Parts: sequence; structure tokens; C-alpha cells
Amino acid sequence: MATATMPTTQHPVTISATKLLINNRWIPSVSGKEFSTVNPSTGEEICRIAEADAADVNKAVAAARAAFERGPWKKINASERGRLLNRLADLIEKHTDELAALEALDNGKPFTIAKAVDVPMAVACYRYFAGWSDKVQGRTIPVDGDFFCYTRLEPVGVVGQIIPWNFPLLMQSWKLAPALATGNTVVMKPAEQTPLSALRVGELIMEAGFPDGVVNILPGYGPTAGAAIASHMDIDKVAFTGSTEVGQLVMEAAARSNLKRVTLELGGKSPNIIFADVDLDEAVEGAHFGLFFNHGQCCCAGSRVFVEEKIYDKFVEKSGARAKRRTVGDPFNPTTEQGPQVDDVQFDKVMGYIESGKKEGANLVCGGKRAGDRGYFIEPTVFADVQDDMKIAKEEIFGPVMSIIPFKSMDEVIDRANRTTYGLAAAVWTRDVQKALAVSNSVRAGTVWVNCYNVIDTRAPFGGFKQSGIGREMGEYGLQQYTEIKTVTVKL
Ligand code: ADP
Repeated sequence: MATATMPTTQHPVTISATKLLINNRWIPSVSGKEFSTVNPSTGEEICRIAEADAADVNKAVAAARAAFERGPWKKINASERGRLLNRLADLIEKHTDELAALEALDNGKPFTIAKAVDVPMAVACYRYFAGWSDKVQGRTIPVDGDFFCYTRLEPVGVVGQIIPWNFPLLMQSWKLAPALATGNTVVMKPAEQTPLSALRVGELIMEAGFPDGVVNILPGYGPTAGAAIASHMDIDKVAFTGSTEVGQLVMEAAARSNLKRVTLELGGKSPNIIFADVDLDEAVEGAHFGLFFNHGQCCCAGSRVFVEEKIYDKFVEKSGARAKRRTVGDPFNPTTEQGPQVDDVQFDKVMGYIESGKKEGANLVCGGKRAGDRGYFIEPTVFADVQDDMKIAKEEIFGPVMSIIPFKSMDEVIDRANRTTYGLAAAVWTRDVQKALAVSNSVRAGTVWVNCYNVIDTRAPFGGFKQSGIGREMGEYGLQQYTEIKTVTVKL
């Protein structure tokens, strides 16, 4: 049985930022409306947050536009942008425990994991892009005739950024750092489920010394505040991370309004392909981590575990045993591996998928039920004998539900792995370098891991093929999404 110790921890941190950040001031929303942010461990309200909608987006865009065109940000040295980002990274690092606690409280992820993974990765992201600030440069081009031709990489302008709830602090860094390094100004909407860490970072942004209007943070709902960003006539680019359905809405709104630039990081149904020649225990642990990390709430989760027939039964048995050992409970307990799902909506959705797996005849190896009697905890769940056409093998579950699927040959598994509308990530486990490279080159996915999973680094691009997205985040490619290329030609 997975152990479920229910949370006993009281709010471990003081929550200071609950309003909208516009033009370096904390203000209530125009409508005066507020919404609750809820502790997913208990289902109880943590506090009330100012709720932005279109009127607030207009104010924030005006501030961001003024900062972009007339404020000190326009004239600032590129190296100074880097210094500000480094200062922000230092402040986030200094407040590691506090920010990790906010993530545990608001999102439900274990405090120890937020402290060891989310916060340091966000810090690394700000530092990496800080380094790029004064290294974004154009080229000189040998055009025909007597001309001097060169390119400049200029900021896109006012950027709208809409982020999800699964890695609130980290997703904020993936969006803000490259945008600010290249000189854009930002209107950001955190997810309504998890506004706390983004707002606290807003305070640190002010402390770091970013000028007025450069970063504006508007907590609120998707169909109101989010849609107002996507359709705004004075936003030059929108960067979105979330579901494929909403990504389509964002792109449509961008197209219909002012053709703003769009980058999207969307859903996935990533294949994790395990050949019979592997070290079985290592592959079982790798697949477990690949699916259950962050309670299965990862867009790149290895949710289709394809296992070669020869080791299938053993793999299923060991994966079930590992999932049963997974500790589920209070995010503030240092031994907890898995906290609650983020909210009641996600909880119901995941439980619905578990029911559909049972109904469609998959073999439930372990889990399948709610854990505990309050909050949104779900037992780590493993299904075996899953068929490619079952709902649980086709749709993104975004929860702690593993589907293990048998395969016979490499060509067959590559074909089946690619039979999906998604293309975010994939992994292959084998000691045979030929197989590893054949699979890596053939799967249609933006990231492929060989004998590992979830290895994500701020220096390496991340993003999707097919309906998993448009564009890349992180690394040099992530930077390119935040600049426009200008060609200047001078008659000599
Ligand atoms: P999930 O289903 O995992 O919550 P969503 O795609 O719904 O993912 O949400 C991701 C982000 O997109 C959140 O910040 C959410 O508020 C926002 N969002 C939701 N609907 C819209 C919309 N119609 N337009 C713009 N943003 C939206």
C-alpha cells in the first residue's frame, strides 16, 4: 500500500504578495474581484488573491508599452540587464526555503523536491540568460553591390506570457529570463491554481531594481485575463505553456487580433521504450521517475511505457512493486515522494482516466483509488496489458497513472510510438548503441533521452514536434524566440 499521511503543517510562510503587480506597484484589480487559492493537501483556502481581467490587462500593457518605448529600460546597457537578472537569481536563491514552501503549499509538490529541483533550476535559468544579455548579436552580410549590410537582433516588444501550475516558479523563469535578457517587457499571467510563488518573485523583481513597467504580473483566470492577453492589440508576442486545446485558442486569438508572435509548449503522450537488454532495476526506476515525478503532472511524462515482450512480465511486476512503495502524503514531510494533485478538477480528471482504463479492460496492477480522505491525493497507479487504442494510451492524463504496453520489434515500436498527435519527448533504454540511435533518430519528438528520463537543463532547448507546440524554450534557441531580426543596408 502506498502510505498516505495527511498534512498537519500549518502555513509555514508569511504570504505578502496577493495583489496585481503593475508598473512596480501592488494594486487591487479594477473590478475589485478576488479569488481563492487553495491548499491541495486539504482543499482549504490559503488566501485571497486579486483577480485580473481585461481591464487590468489593458493597464499592464500600457505600463509595459511605456517601459519598452520610453522608460529607462529602452536605453539600458545589455550588460546591465544581465546584472539585474543575476541580482534576481541571487535573491531567489537567498529565499530558497520560503519559495520552496510556497510551492509545496500552493501546488502540493514536496518541499524537499521544490528545494532541490524547482528553485535551483529557476536560479540556473535566470543566471544562464543573464549571461546571454550582452551576447545577442547580429551579423554583417556580404550583399551584392556597394552596400554595408548588417542585422540587429531587437526585442520583440511587449510580451504576454501565460504559465501553467505544474512548475510555477520554474515555468516563470523559463518565460521571464529569455524575454528580459533580450530587452522585452512582460505582462505575465500565472495559473489561477498557483499564483503565490510568481507574486513573491514579483517582490524580488522590484527588490532587484528592474525599472517600472518592465515586469507586470496579473493573477487571474484563463478565459478572462489569459484570453485578454492572447487577443490584445498592443502585445507583440504571446508565449504560452499549457494544454493543446488552450494553445489552439491562444494561437487563434493571436492570429485574429494583431498576428502577434506565438510560442507554445503544450501537452504530450511521450513514449518510453525499454528493450530487453537493459539493467532491469535501473530501467524500472527510470520509468517510475519518468512517469511519477511531480505526481505525473509533467507535459513530458513518460506515460506510454513500451516494454519488449521478453522482459514484460518481470517489468510489470517490479514496476507495480515500486509504485506501491512510493510514499504519498504531506508535502512538508521530508520522506514524501508524492503530494496531492493540484486541484479538484485535476483530481476528478485523473480518476476518470483510471475508471476508463478499468472499463476498457486494462489490467490494474496497483493503485486506482483516492489516497487519504481529504485533499487531492491519488494512489500511484499502474496499468498493464494496455492497448494502443485505449483512452489511457492516447490521451494526456497528467496524473500518477502508468500504462505499460508490450512490443516485439524495434520497427514496430517506433511506428507505434509515433502514432500520436503529440511529439514532446521520448526515451529509449538499451545497451545497444545502434538501437538507441535508430530510435532517437526515428521518434518524432523534441527531446529524446537515452537511458535516462527528465534530464532537463537550461542550456538545452526544450519543446515539441506536432501538436506539442511551436518553438523552443531554453538554450540559445529559446533566446531566439524573443528577438526580431532587423536588416540594415547602408549605401557606401
Ligand atoms: P491545465 O488544463 O493543465 O490547467 P490550461 O491550458 O487550461 O492547462 O492552463 C494553462 C494556462 O493557460 C493557465 O494559466 C490558464 O489560466 C491559462 N488559460 C486557460 N484558458 C485560457 C484561454 N482561453 N486563453 C488564455 N489562457 C488560458
